[in-house]
Amino acid sequence: MAVAIHPSVDNGLKPAAAGFAGGTLVCKCTSNAVKVQIDSQVLHNHACGCTKCWKPAGALFSVVGVVPKDKVKVVENGNKLKIVDDKATIQRHACTGCGVHLFGRIENNKHAFYGLDFIHTELSPQSGWAPAGFAAFVSSIIEGGADPNGMGAVRGRLKEIFGNDYYDCLNPPLMDALATQAAKLSGVLKT
Ligand SMILES: [Zn+2]
Ligand SMILES: [Zn+2]
Repeated sequence: MAVAIHPSVDNGLKPAAAGFAGGTLVCKCTSNAVKVQIDSQVLHNHACGCTKCWKPAGALFSVVGVVPKDKVKVVENGNKLKIVDDKATIQRHACTGCGVHLFGRIENNKHAFYGLDFIHTELSPQSGWAPAGFAAFVSSIIEGGADPNGMGAVRGRLKEIFGNDYYDCLNPPLMDALATQAAKLSGVLKT
């Protein structure tokens, strides 16, 4: 049996719809659900193995991507949202009713990813979102409880889905963005 990574990638990746411009994220509450309107296609969507991202029950990985934060609007029941950890780099706004993370925001304006909010497109009934394009923080699933002896099988499955685009941190473009910002802040890189 194939290793289950995440429901949105286990049965093949659905391509993005041309011209797709967003949708509405809905939490799992059966009444008074939190709704967040996203007026953008998702960028850098990926499977993430870290212990902080929200993932559906039974999944080894989350699937998470980013959108410009000015394209994110809480439209219903925002009073149910609470920040999971206000010390974390990414402040994840979760529903206090069902635990789902509606969006994660970086408040540090010096961070390379400042201005981008992290979202889970599986919470949206619309189809056409860009699918996950790589896997990040693969080794971190062990910290989340995955069996270290199963990592060969996990990486084998990730290779089938993403080719060579699976990493134990972020992918090269995003690691380069972090390092570029660090170099600018330290003065090593003159702008
Ligand atoms: Zn909820
Ligand atoms: Zn993560």
